[in-house]
Amino acid sequence: MRTSRQVVDYSLQKRAVLRDVLAGRVGTYDVCDASPYLKNAARFHGEPTEQRCPICRSENLTHVHYIYGDELRQSAGQARTLAELPVLAMTLREFQVFVVEVCLGCDWNHLVEQFLLGRDGLAEGGPEQGVAEAATAATQERRREAQR
Ligand SMILES: [Zn+2]
Repeated sequence: MRTSRQVVDYSLQKRAVLRDVLAGRVGTYDVCDASPYLKNAARFHGEPTEQRCPICRSENLTHVHYIYGDELRQSAGQARTLAELPVLAMTLREFQVFVVEVCLGCDWNHLVEQFLLGRDGLAEGGPEQGVAEAATAATQERRREAQR
């Protein structure tokens, strides 16, 4: 059951960037530019994945979930762990989640996807746990994508 909505997938853009890197049109220093803030967010709030970094191929990628929305006030723009999202989704009407993948080895980073979460989306009969299921399903979907 998917309660995350208005999902925007950035895998095409990511593939285009990786093609440019492989072809030598873009240097790795242009794409491996994770800021200290992003790397700290990955260390403290990140979700480890099984996906290898497409650039250095020696580290697994970490997913960082950034949250945005008027209801969040001073929390807007902060990173949250995946486990915190269902709790927020039960208390807030609507907020935006941006998922960024980061390699702590070579600093590669790219936007993975964005989607909306919140109580507004639960009206279609989704129980609260649907949010966690949706997040897990999205992660599993990405793993399948990565293995293709
Ligand atoms: Zn890397």
